Amino acid sequence: MVKIEKSFKAPPIYSVTSNEVKMFKHLDKMAAIQQGRVSPVMIHIAPTNVCNQNCAHCCFSERERTISLDFGLLKSALDQSYNLGIRAVEWTGGGEPTLYHYINEATEYVAEKKMKLGMNTNALSIDNVKEENWGKFQWVRVALNVFDGDDEARIKKFEENVKYLQDKTKITACYIVSQEIGCKNIGRVIEFTNKHKILSRLAPDCIQTKEAIKNQINQIKKELEKYENHEYIYLSDFNVYLFDREDNACLMHMWKPFLYTDGYVYACPSSELAIENNRTMQTKFRVCHASEIENYYKNNFQVFHHACSYCKYAKQNQILYSLLKEVDDKDFS
Ligand code: SF4
Repeated sequence: MVKIEKSFKAPPIYSVTSNEVKMFKHLDKMAAIQQGRVSPVMIHIAPTNVCNQNCAHCCFSERERTISLDFGLLKSALDQSYNLGIRAVEWTGGGEPTLYHYINEATEYVAEKKMKLGMNTNALSIDNVKEENWGKFQWVRVALNVFDGDDEARIKKFEENVKYLQDKTKITACYIVSQEIGCKNIGRVIEFTNKHKILSRLAPDCIQTKEAIKNQINQIKKELEKYENHEYIYLSDFNVYLFDREDNACLMHMWKPFLYTDGYVYACPSSELAIENNRTMQTKFRVCHASEIENYYKNNFQVFHHACSYCKYAKQNQILYSLLKEVDDKDFS
């Protein structure tokens, strides 16, 4: 009998980034978009702008640092998201999600709805989340940029916290190579990921010109060549597509909208990475107010054309845009 290979394991890095391989696991959502209906896969939510770090690369560094999402509005946004068919929620920045006053109540609210839950955290204030609530997360991504500081006590605390979290849920990690600091801490980051066997992504600082991003990717590649064993950390250069999008198409709000601390849903969670957006959320990327999510998505089908100089989701946008394009003789493909 001939054995037919039906699937191929993607390189591990594809499991810990936002990419097209994951998109194709949701053909139903793609088909809906093609028919003019939108039910996003997930929602990113920044519950608070408060943070206990001051990272050199922070893409939200120019935010107003004290505001947090109104909890009543957050619950309403979660209810509406669920009604729309969204089944996954990611707590992210803004600031540090574990510092949100209602992080436990919000986490329990999502879990009660049986929605999947992920979190991006610097893992320095994990005590704010109850022990039993960490088990409600499908994954937690920890930021490794604590290694850019020279506070060894803080680094030790971070390591202890990561070990604690590893007993509760799946941990992945991310290290951003900032322009100011460069590659000098990559060795230490590799040592950490090897020691704790944490699958991690290594990303360039994207708040610079495309040319500069390209140069930094090359520097990181060269730096990685110095280390024989870096099996747990991967340069996510395939996640940094630098081509110009056709018609500046922007459809990520149909896939993974971003609810920000100001109570508005934005086109995506990464527009602040484009230099001209000044490390802040610009009002031109607003999709709707959080109180209007269900109404907006049920009654609108809008393709935006945002000219962000750098778009983290260039490839995803291109794929979504392709779903809507009419062609002649489609059966001769
Ligand atoms: S163009 Fe890209 S970066 Fe800009 S808002 Fe749209 S998805 Fe986000």
